[in-house]
Amino acid sequence: MMERTLVLIKPDGVYRSLIGKIISTMEDAGLKVVGMKMVRPDKKLAEQHYIPDENWMREIGDKTKATYKDQGVSNNEEPVEIGRRVWMQLIDYLMSGPVAVMVVEGNDAIFVVRKLVGATEPRKADPGSIRGRLSSDSYALADGKHRAVKNLIHASDAPETAKREISVWFKPEELIKYSRSDESAQYD
Ligand code: ADP
Ligand code: MG
Repeated sequence: MMERTLVLIKPDGVYRSLIGKIISTMEDAGLKVVGMKMVRPDKKLAEQHYIPDENWMREIGDKTKATYKDQGVSNNEEPVEIGRRVWMQLIDYLMSGPVAVMVVEGNDAIFVVRKLVGATEPRKADPGSIRGRLSSDSYALADGKHRAVKNLIHASDAPETAKREISVWFKPEELIKYSRSDESAQYD
């Protein structure tokens, strides 16, 4: 099914000049960029992107605790506390530099982009994925430095979040309808 998803190259990706490589990876997989811009987010925009939702904060905490357990690192924080701390770090991370934001379209774009992006923690991300290939950060390193995990990229995780996130960054008229020259080879 044709879908649109929001992809954001975080400041570490922009500073490391990885915009081109990241876009190429998605284009090579058959996806199409239908909206794109550079933004220097302020606090308001960053907080519209990352909403402090309790369930989301708990999920982040659970994921982090599971990784700590794997690594034998002790941690007594409640998952939701970890999530709240990470949320504040994420706002600072997004505000720390320029981001490249885009809307990417294609068959099952939300799932396909998340697959290409790889797992949240770069140290663990599949070596073929964008995060696994181009970064190596870990929760332990990030937590020790009181910052968010530098994992290059954000990608929407579900149809409702994609719709919401696209509307945070783009006006409808900023999204362009066109066909790639290989669409019939891909889809017909
Ligand atoms: P994803 O970006 O893979 O969808 P999440 O939505 O779970 O991951 O988390 C949002 C972002 O929060 C991550 O991309 C990462 O930058 C940051 N993050 C998550 N967990 C931690 C943590 N324990 N410490 C620091 N940063 C974290
Ligand atoms: Mg997420």
